Amino acid sequence: MSIMEIFETMDYGPAPEASSLALAWIKEHQPFQLFINNQWTAPAKETYFESSNPATGKGITKVAAADKADVDKAVAAARKAFPSWSKTPGHVRARYLYAIARHIQKHARLLAVLESLDNGKTIRETRDIDIPLVARHFYYHAGWAQLMETELSGYQPVGVVGQIIPWNFPLLMLAWKIAPALAMGNTVVLKPARYTSLTALKFAEIMQEVGLPAGVVNIVTGEASKAGDALVNHPDIDKIAFTGSTDVGRSIRKATAGSGKKLSLELGGKSPFIVFDDADLDSVVEGVVDAIWFNQGQVCCAGSRLLVQENIAERLINKLRARMENLRIGDPLDKAMDIGAIVSPGQREEIQHLVDIGVKEGAQMWQPSTACPTEGSFFPPTLFTNVAPASTLAQVEIFGPVLVTLTFRTPAEAVEIANNTRYGLAASIWSDNINLALDIAPKVKAGSVWVNCTNQFDAACGFGGYRESGYGREGGKEGLYEYVKPAWLNVHHGRSSSAKAVAQAEEQQATANGSAAVHTDELEEFNTTDSHVGYGFPPIDRTPKLFIGGKQARPDSGYSLTITGAAGRVLGEVGEGNRKDIRNAVEAAHKASGWSATSAHNRAQILYYIAENLGARESEFARRIVDQTGRTYADALNEVQTSLSRLFSYAAWTDKFEGSVHLPPLRGAVLAMKEAIGVIGMACPDDYPLLGFISLVAPAIAMGNTVVAIPSPRAPFSATDCYQIFETSDVPAGVINIVTGERETLSKVLAEHHDVNSMWYFGTAEGSKAVELASTSNMKRTWVNYGRSRNWLDRIQGEGEEFLREATQVKNIWVPYGE
Ligand code: NAD
Ligand code: MN
Repeated sequence: MSIMEIFETMDYGPAPEASSLALAWIKEHQPFQLFINNQWTAPAKETYFESSNPATGKGITKVAAADKADVDKAVAAARKAFPSWSKTPGHVRARYLYAIARHIQKHARLLAVLESLDNGKTIRETRDIDIPLVARHFYYHAGWAQLMETELSGYQPVGVVGQIIPWNFPLLMLAWKIAPALAMGNTVVLKPARYTSLTALKFAEIMQEVGLPAGVVNIVTGEASKAGDALVNHPDIDKIAFTGSTDVGRSIRKATAGSGKKLSLELGGKSPFIVFDDADLDSVVEGVVDAIWFNQGQVCCAGSRLLVQENIAERLINKLRARMENLRIGDPLDKAMDIGAIVSPGQREEIQHLVDIGVKEGAQMWQPSTACPTEGSFFPPTLFTNVAPASTLAQVEIFGPVLVTLTFRTPAEAVEIANNTRYGLAASIWSDNINLALDIAPKVKAGSVWVNCTNQFDAACGFGGYRESGYGREGGKEGLYEYVKPAWLNVHHGRSSSAKAVAQAEEQQATANGSAAVHTDELEEFNTTDSHVGYGFPPIDRTPKLFIGGKQARPDSGYSLTITGAAGRVLGEVGEGNRKDIRNAVEAAHKASGWSATSAHNRAQILYYIAENLGARESEFARRIVDQTGRTYADALNEVQTSLSRLFSYAAWTDKFEGSVHLPPLRGAVLAMKEAIGVIGMACPDDYPLLGFISLVAPAIAMGNTVVAIPSPRAPFSATDCYQIFETSDVPAGVINIVTGERETLSKVLAEHHDVNSMWYFGTAEGSKAVELASTSNMKRTWVNYGRSRNWLDRIQGEGEEFLREATQVKNIWVPYGE
């Protein structure tokens, strides 16, 4: 091409990145083995699969396919490495993580090329986004390893962690998993996605280079049905961290239900990209390009639904089409390419299939006239207009370069459409009116919200979903809690072994409350006989009803349950709640969702008010506990007073459990807000009928959630006696709902309910499993005790951060500044 010709056409010339070094590295290592105990290990069955280059469709190399026996070996290596790694000082772990980060940077070019070759994504992205973020993740977590001892005192590592990652950001997803796990002192077995193992294997080599102790990280490449399945079901694994599709996430929740394995799930999305009519449309167009054509749209948080204000829709669509004509699609190793290849032919077909459905359902498809390579798995950037909000295109995650457009008129309508999916991973909001943008941000159900920007990531800013996009966060301090557990969990396993500690804590608490000294006379009063005794009055029937929507409601069944006290004496009856009552209670809790928008100060006031009213009736509540449990009056009074203290604690926390402002490398700030989860169902423990109930309800409502509580079935009166207290404490109707009845049945109904956002369960091991299984209906969060009890009197076990974290989820709102 002559200079004159170039000048005339202004075309890009080819600018390929050399692949020779990467290919030489592959040649040197093939066939790739499993990385177990710092050794390259051949798979037990000697089976290998082919890894190919999506841009050419040709095989690159062979990679070991792990089987159950190999996974066993890897888990055993990780288990063996755990005691010493978990005791390795934070500073030493920090040095390893720091060394890994440095080595990633040293090998950045090789890693970027390998990623491009194996996944099909453009070198521009692997070089400028994936690999730098990987290094940043290890640097950031080196810092947390250093600080763990002081900043996470009271926590310990979880143990051996099984990690399963997808193919769309192979090395980045590895970093998001491995960095926090190692920082917190866990050991790891990681399974890369079948299509993209190569950078994980280069990473294994880096671990050898930095001299990471053997067994701390093991990498087992292979198929979902063999390696993946074996990892999920392995009995000696303490936690599973999974990123991938919602369907697989659901199956993993089922497979691990009741096992006690900790679980974090980063799942799919169908994220809205909301454009208001005052937005700068040229910036919006570039934003859309980054939202849906970044990584060929194979991004969990892709802005795949363009929501445009109606009056500017036509203008924006025209601009967008013009821009799409200029997108360059082709060889991923060409530095001038915007769009690379789809990861596999199968995935390409899946995209085509969904596009065909969209066309059949009547949506209008548009693709640019520019050429799209016919060899390899390429798919042209695609735009749909005339899309119905309930259609397949608007609801199903396509995971490809396909944008669907919907229009709205008002901000309220924008929020409604934005939230009209099962998912809740991310959202972008475009407006030059910061008041409007920041008004919308809290209303959108999503873990990340980007104002006038999109697809921003940083290790300091947690990433993760609401609703069926999963639970748990990666990055930020919040992400660390996925890899630790409270230190006391190891000390007390179950009630029997903790009896002594319980007694001790009771004693301390009693002294702290001053109860033992002050209330001896009440004890006497309680013991004096009533002058009517002996006359054989029939007791006044006070069968408490259910408490739904601020009113006492008769149980739908019309039946009641007889409650017998400790001495075998019939104490009374409570309503037998059923499925319908739970449904009504959930509906009432939903209607009360405005509670989350009340000020923290107001919520605190109401908690203090509850405490005040309960305090006025403490001896009556103590007697009720004596009747139900047969414990001494002093002991019961201590429970009441600890409940008062607990209410004070959460009143205190309402305006102190705050979010933070992150400072990622960007001109701007990221507001990490702690938001209420929504409706929380809770099954209260049997030990401490009042304190157990208060310990769960108080943190939940303090953080702005509304609740449906099932009191202890053995001793429900301590909760039902609270009706009048709630009524006289200005608790808005529907914020606290109480349904008495059979715990297991009612818990299951709550756990299955689509409008319940989290389920807390403190009962039996089997009940815990049932709750975890039922939770997959809408992938709600769960918090269960696996039949183990905790000491509710103890301030560390019975209240505080753990409860507050369970009652909140973090939303990161990115707000760049500058003109
Ligand atoms: P996938 O769910 O098919 O597979 C993910 C990983 O799980 C792979 O390693 C696979 O081998 C393994 N796997 C599959 N079935 C398994 C099973 N039954 N037991 C154990 N392991 C199993 O997902 P994918 O196609 O690789 O990735 C695309 C999906 O991942 C999309 O839905 C996307 O939204 C999601 N994703 C989410 C995030 C996030 O952070 N939320 C990030 C990237 C991708
Ligand atoms: Mn590949």
